[in-house]
Amino acid sequence: MKYTIVHFRDAFPTDDVCLDYLLNVRFGGKVGKCPKCKKIANWSRVAGRKTYACSWCGTHVSPTAGTIFHKSETPLMHWFYAIFLMSQSKNGVAAKEIERLVGVTYKCAWRMMHQIRKLMEQGPSLFDGTVEADETYVGGKRRGKRGRGASGKTPVFGIVKREGQVFAKAVPNVKASTVMPLIREHVRIGSTVMTDEFAIYNKSKKNGYKHKRVNHGSGQYVRSGRPEKIHTNTIEGFWSQLKRSVDGTHHSVSGKHLQRYVDEHVFRYNHRNAPTHLFQVLMSRLGSGA
Ligand SMILES: [Zn+2]
Repeated sequence: MKYTIVHFRDAFPTDDVCLDYLLNVRFGGKVGKCPKCKKIANWSRVAGRKTYACSWCGTHVSPTAGTIFHKSETPLMHWFYAIFLMSQSKNGVAAKEIERLVGVTYKCAWRMMHQIRKLMEQGPSLFDGTVEADETYVGGKRRGKRGRGASGKTPVFGIVKREGQVFAKAVPNVKASTVMPLIREHVRIGSTVMTDEFAIYNKSKKNGYKHKRVNHGSGQYVRSGRPEKIHTNTIEGFWSQLKRSVDGTHHSVSGKHLQRYVDEHVFRYNHRNAPTHLFQVLMSRLGSGA
């Protein structure tokens, strides 16, 4: 579970070691087939280049091609260190921090982080049991209005299973026609969906869910219910963490990039009890392209 800077420095002392690691993830062991001759190759490093040659047919492969590092001039050690730093933080790291700690320009730090967030993308999810669904507004100017319809902010819709995983997505609006299809896609029919009184959730029952609501407008936050209390406190807790991260760490995030930040936050939340350290989770995903 623990993975410290000492582990990191031991594992990745040079750029060559980083490239070897990447080769292993992408062309090592069982996946080590040469794309040309399809044999399990013994790869040997090509002198002076960031490529390896197949022991059978001599074809060169580049471990960085098609990954988040593709065509980057930044040394892999810098990249891996940035991944390490992003995996260590609980609420996200500011690009300014990466700039300072990794020793790259702000622009480079920002771009690297944007690429690294691609490793945190949400996979498909289907929840059952009791879930909470809710929407919020994130990003934009720091001192925007609060609540529904706030200017410059982007709506985000989310579903969380209590004691479980979360799904969240930046959406163009919070109409029922946007939100209900997301509920249908991510919640198994017959499950219990808890929401507030907002009208966009009116058709939940019609769509085959047990629908329970709290009336926030009249100051009601928890209702007794069986077997579980009726509230949306879990998703609201997630929102407040997300906002603290986006508004507190990154200041202003445009709607265009918001989904990446949402993905990063969902990734952290969904791995909060994972036995593997986030750094190792991210490193294991380097093989899947970008
Ligand atoms: Zn070959």
